[in-house]
Amino acid sequence: MIPAKSYAAQSPTADLAPWEFERREVGPHDVQIEIAYCGVCHSDYHQIKNDWFPGLFPMVPGHEIVGRITKVGDHIKKFKTGDLAGVGCLVDSCQVCANCQDDLEQYCLEGNTQTYNNLDRSGVPTYGGYSNTIVVREEFVLHVSEKLDLAAVAPLLCAGITTYSPLRYWKVGKGHKLAVLGLGGLGHMAVKWGVAFGAEVTVLSTSPDKAEAAKALGAHHFVITKDEAQVEAVKGSFDFILDTVSAQHDLGLYLSLLKTNGTHIIVGAPPKPLDLAAFALIIGRKSVVGSSIGGIAETQEMLDFCAEHNIVSDIELIDFKDINAAYERMLKGDVRYRFVLDIATL
Ligand code: NAP
Ligand code: ZN
Repeated sequence: MIPAKSYAAQSPTADLAPWEFERREVGPHDVQIEIAYCGVCHSDYHQIKNDWFPGLFPMVPGHEIVGRITKVGDHIKKFKTGDLAGVGCLVDSCQVCANCQDDLEQYCLEGNTQTYNNLDRSGVPTYGGYSNTIVVREEFVLHVSEKLDLAAVAPLLCAGITTYSPLRYWKVGKGHKLAVLGLGGLGHMAVKWGVAFGAEVTVLSTSPDKAEAAKALGAHHFVITKDEAQVEAVKGSFDFILDTVSAQHDLGLYLSLLKTNGTHIIVGAPPKPLDLAAFALIIGRKSVVGSSIGGIAETQEMLDFCAEHNIVSDIELIDFKDINAAYERMLKGDVRYRFVLDIATL
């Protein structure tokens, strides 16, 4: 077994604290990565707090992982020791169901294996990237360009692909008015994609102090959703809303901002169900849809797109000792726009 250091939550009420455990040995189809950076996703907080379902404890969160490969199994052909590599939310799937065959491992019909807070296919708990090393089967490891700032690449593995995938699937681009609801880790990447794909991008935010930063990200317009007059002015104006909000919010209000036939894409995952009045959909033939991360091939496509177009996340690099305070700031929407853990501080 391989000794690993981490920060873990021992229970839903405990702060994250140092914890040591063991990873499996590198099998013939595995690679071992020395983790350099790991992004801090709002999902990490939802999971350690049992927001969605009872978690497995101790829990080592983290699914925005980048680092260098230190060991490869005997059958590995795509990677070699010393390569940069990334791991996102998935570390395994059945690989044979219709969805896996279609490069949609996130929708594996047998259930995928998540990077942490899950049991792997042999029944062993998975532990995430708030850790110095990880062993992952080759099919779930991504190539990372040497050209980009590595710490700022980490959030692409979840925040990046989660917003890239739906905008590609619904073919959002030139001629579309896209609203990004919530300007956090996911939202700021959605703005970058929307602009790169040629859409006219509006940020819908509860935080007036993010206006200038939104424009700097390339957003064309900024609407403060607490200001009734500003909201009234954009009623019926968007083709798509990409909803990244992590807490309860008024779906009916935002649906009223869509054009006829408009689509509200939910990627944010609030702990409780959202209310939805039938008439909010009926009037104007509107759709509410959802999307989960992205498949492995699409994640690689997104990383390659980033290398080609020089796109990374805007990050605040933090030490492990500051992780609990960082969660508090994230809950207040006070992060520009993703905290990334420097694994050297473990
Ligand atoms: P984040 O950085 O905390 O950003 C969320 C943003 O939502 C905040 O910055 C804030 O933006 C806005 N917001 C927060 N509370 C709000 C409220 N009550 N009403 C309206 N707006 C509010 O979180 P994140 O890491 O981007 O994650 C966002 C959500 O996506 C989480 O629920 C996460 O679990 C989920 N997620 C889903 C997937 C998937 O596969 N579908 C993948 C990753 C994450 P403003 O300050 O601009 O209002
Ligand atoms: Zn995430």
